[in-house]
Amino acid sequence: ERLLSAALHVEDGESDFSLRPRRLADFIGQGKVKESIAIFIRAALERKEALDHVLLFGPPGLGKTTLAGIIASELGVAIRVTSGPAIERPGDLAAILTNLAPGDVLFIDEIHRLSRPVEEILYPAMEDFALDIVIGKGPGARSIRLDLPRFTLIGATTRAGLLTSPLRDRFGVISRLEYYRVDELVQIIMRAAHILGVPIDGDGAEEIARRSRGTPRVGNRLLKRVRDYAQVKAAGIITRAVAAEALHFLEVDPLGLDQTDRRLLQIIIEKFRGGPVGLETLAAAAGEEAGTLEDVFEPYLMQVGLLVRTPRGRVATPAAYRHLGLPAKQGGQQ
Ligand code: ADP
Repeated sequence: ERLLSAALHVEDGESDFSLRPRRLADFIGQGKVKESIAIFIRAALERKEALDHVLLFGPPGLGKTTLAGIIASELGVAIRVTSGPAIERPGDLAAILTNLAPGDVLFIDEIHRLSRPVEEILYPAMEDFALDIVIGKGPGARSIRLDLPRFTLIGATTRAGLLTSPLRDRFGVISRLEYYRVDELVQIIMRAAHILGVPIDGDGAEEIARRSRGTPRVGNRLLKRVRDYAQVKAAGIITRAVAAEALHFLEVDPLGLDQTDRRLLQIIIEKFRGGPVGLETLAAAAGEEAGTLEDVFEPYLMQVGLLVRTPRGRVATPAAYRHLGLPAKQGGQQ
């Protein structure tokens, strides 16, 4: 497992859970999303109604699951957590829905991965709070409608565009989570350090934050790895120097790139004269799947301005040459 991947690792398990803020006030950053959710929660509470269905989208590790938990606790209701791939048959979803209490939150992670028959159960459930069940087969089959309690569906996905439009249209609130700024990540890392009892100063937290790829899950993970290093190799407190040394040891560079990110840029520069190079060609040269390059590696390289996508393919920017300490490209368009 890549140290810097935003996806949940097995080793994150326990702490990923214990580090989750429980109240909206403790949820750092995402100002706009937080503000609008606070208003919707307040309005629902005042009207004593269930909250409208909410769709949260954005890259992994930015706090979608955390936010769903916060919404439930602010509403004072229970949350049931599941995911698109976990709901295999329509009957599985029907069982979940009929077990909800009025006002409850149902959180479906990776909601774009629901199968079509399951998704079709969801439409009347979201819209009319009803379940249509077909009894019998052939000409004698008939459909009966069961009433469901009013509940709030919170769906999470990496890209809103992955949802079918009938599903997307049934959400009253659609919010996009953004990568975090360094100052926000500093606060998140300081908070996690406090909970975990890790001695750290502001500069040490900033050094980790800069290399966390805008992602709280990565920040928390790096904090734990730096803590181990500090405990063994330094006096225990994480200062900027200790953090920098530990992260260098972990092969996380000052921009938050690892060996694989750097190798990818190096291939574009050395094998393809800086690009443009097509996705498939690049994937073959790097020995990675095209989909992995697109979803896992490229978003961050583009975000930090080392890579651009053009109609003719991927291009390494002048900043990429500088970052790798290579001489600037001669004669090409840059
Ligand atoms: P997602 O569901 O988007 O993949 P999670 O909600 O599981 O992300 O968040 C991953 C980890 O990052 C959580 O353990 C949580 O501790 C931390 N985290 C995410 N967002 C925040 C935030 N705004 N403030 C503090 N911690 C956060």
